Amino acid sequence: MRYDLILLDFDGTFTDVEKEADPFFASYKAEVRELIGGDVDGDWAEAVATLEQNPGEFGWVFEGQVVAPGNADPYLRATVILNMIFDRRGLYPNEAERTELLQGLYFRNYPKADTVFRANAKQVVETLLASPVPTMVVTNSATDDVEAKIDRMAPTGRERLKVYGNAKKYIVAEPDESDACFERVPETMRAEGLERDILLRRGRYYELLRTLWKETGVKPERTLVAGDIFELDLALPGHLGADVHLVLKDKTQPFERAAVKAMEGGAESPGLEGILERAGL
Ligand SMILES: [Mg+2]
Repeated sequence: MRYDLILLDFDGTFTDVEKEADPFFASYKAEVRELIGGDVDGDWAEAVATLEQNPGEFGWVFEGQVVAPGNADPYLRATVILNMIFDRRGLYPNEAERTELLQGLYFRNYPKADTVFRANAKQVVETLLASPVPTMVVTNSATDDVEAKIDRMAPTGRERLKVYGNAKKYIVAEPDESDACFERVPETMRAEGLERDILLRRGRYYELLRTLWKETGVKPERTLVAGDIFELDLALPGHLGADVHLVLKDKTQPFERAAVKAMEGGAESPGLEGILERAGL
């Protein structure tokens, strides 16, 4: 076996997030309309147009720093758009209050999204679960929400698929206890086609990865991490020595493909079968 551990992102990697998101957007926008009033739809359309001019640079700002491309998935997009609207209207200038509000909106409305799996999602999960290599889901979403989606998928071997939610891949912060492995991770990296830096020291995500590596006794070098958003899913594990795999979608930014290509142990594929190929399954 090429790997001893496979870690999978879920939303956008195993699901078609763009197709899932219509009911999410509907209830999210309804809540926003109630909250701030005025021409929310007009402001919203304008913010979308601005975002689409340069989705890499108009990133998702979390605690004052860009932590992911703003258009990477509908959930990020909603947050980025609302940040633009708040800025424009001068609403919620207090950063902590705004962050709490945005997180609340996301978590309340996420469960309203449909579940639309990507082609072959079930077969790929079943093949992974039938292999001797432990496979786990590591996601920013709430554990229960993703568990429910996987229950709906109902793959053979479901009971072997553990989900670790609330991974906080977007938080750039030192881990509670650092170590030699994390110390090697630089502050930033550059990617061809992106003007800003990519921030690498995501301590909360690291703490979870470290726990999984400790519990399984597997080294980063023997781990494959697959995801659909380079900065959130792959940039840190790639720098810790894991192999990384970018599953492409329409909204994948050119810089994400360039970054993965430039990384030792980095690869991409248009579909999920690419994960199996890499794992030799
Ligand atoms: Mg994802």
